[in-house]
Amino acid sequence: MATQQQVLKIYNSLSGKKETFAPIHQNHVGMYVCGPTVYSNVHLGNCRTFISFDLVYRYLKFLGYKVRYVRNITDAGHLENDADSGEDRIAKKARLEAIEPMEVVQRYTVDFHQTLRAFNTLPPSIEPTATGHIVEQIEIIKQIVDKGFAYEVNGSIYFDVSTFNKTHDYGKLSGRKLEDMIHNTRELEGQSDKKNPQDFALWKKAEPQHIMRWPSPWSDGFPGWHLECTAMSTKYLGDQFDIHGGGMDLKFPHHECEIAQSEAFSGQTPVNYWMHANMLTLNGQKMAKSTGNNILPNEIFSGNNEILSQAFEPAVVRFFMLQAHYRSILDFSNDALAASEKGYRKLMEALKACDSISSSDKTTNFDIDAWKQSCFDAMNDDFNSPILIAKLFDAVKFVYLIRDGKATVSEKDLKSLTACLHNFVFDVLGLESTQKSSNDQTLSGVVSMLISLRNEARDRKDFATSDRIRDELAALGIALKDGKEGTTFSI
Ligand SMILES: [Zn+2]
Repeated sequence: MATQQQVLKIYNSLSGKKETFAPIHQNHVGMYVCGPTVYSNVHLGNCRTFISFDLVYRYLKFLGYKVRYVRNITDAGHLENDADSGEDRIAKKARLEAIEPMEVVQRYTVDFHQTLRAFNTLPPSIEPTATGHIVEQIEIIKQIVDKGFAYEVNGSIYFDVSTFNKTHDYGKLSGRKLEDMIHNTRELEGQSDKKNPQDFALWKKAEPQHIMRWPSPWSDGFPGWHLECTAMSTKYLGDQFDIHGGGMDLKFPHHECEIAQSEAFSGQTPVNYWMHANMLTLNGQKMAKSTGNNILPNEIFSGNNEILSQAFEPAVVRFFMLQAHYRSILDFSNDALAASEKGYRKLMEALKACDSISSSDKTTNFDIDAWKQSCFDAMNDDFNSPILIAKLFDAVKFVYLIRDGKATVSEKDLKSLTACLHNFVFDVLGLESTQKSSNDQTLSGVVSMLISLRNEARDRKDFATSDRIRDELAALGIALKDGKEGTTFSI
């Protein structure tokens, strides 16, 4: 397939415009995406971000680029309030659960990998950890201090934002001006070692009770959160690389600080294209553990939750997410998911139908080459997956017309159509068609049948039978839940 001739445009958060993508090294792409802080089960909103960048990774590979995709694991240094105070998130969880910080890290790294595998995301080329790169971080701090962009106070090192801003532009990514930030900040004097509230920590001296600590020229302590991404991206991708991605909420201060650190120590602008994925809401509200407006990926897959009326398989949730553009806010709800499930099944059925329809002398009512290019055009326009999916459904309609004898397709066009559908559905969108899903459907059917038998038994007050159905299902790991709307189950 003619792929590298495609002209890809990427919306660059730095310029606020769609720009034609040109990699630094021909045919090669370096991409860095901020990974999770592994102190709790991976959030569904974060999954959306990683699925968005999986789409980017897959499409770049599909176009024929050799992509080095680096996504880090934050296993130290991320404090509670994203800034320079509060407890380390991982250390706090370890304290509350009375386990080692590295047990917390291990538990939630495993959860993260399992969840992303369920969503059929490709693993990155390199997945470095913050604690594995303390030496590199200390080296960068030394250079930033030597160049006069950081200062030491009581064993901690802070980045000097106002000195940096005299020769550079702090705020260029998030569209902020340092003067405005200074005017709008009210920080009580004497609460911090910093010269200015806008300064941020590169190294923090550890309090006596802080467990996660390393020796450095300044104190026993730990690196600031923003620094790990600078250290790991430059180590594996160079001082300048092509794409840096992350969730919208990381634009400021995290990514702004990454730019400042890189420019201060290497003198170069680190990233050519900044990409930010938008957030996911749940029933129109921001997701938050504290309000209960929250759902974990595993709770969606098992159906074991209070929010959805049924279980949804990971491929359906992935399809649902890709039906929105990555820069739009997406609202997660039962109705929206149920609609996506229908669409997903229809798409998969059409793919199966391609294998059984027969070709004719000529193609009627469909221009395969124009359709194929329209699929590329959708993705070339800043990875517009909803438009791509709409184009795929044009082909689905055509496949059904052929099946119903209302259109014909030539042998060559049928091959081309089938190949292109497979490429975009499986390789680019990463949607799996597994035998498992049809087994799941069969199992759901069997359990639903047992639930209605149990209801009939209860209606005739045959509680021995109804209890037996419930208990034997429970022994097989299938829990029945009786509610106002009837009985639901989770596996
Ligand atoms: Zn980062």
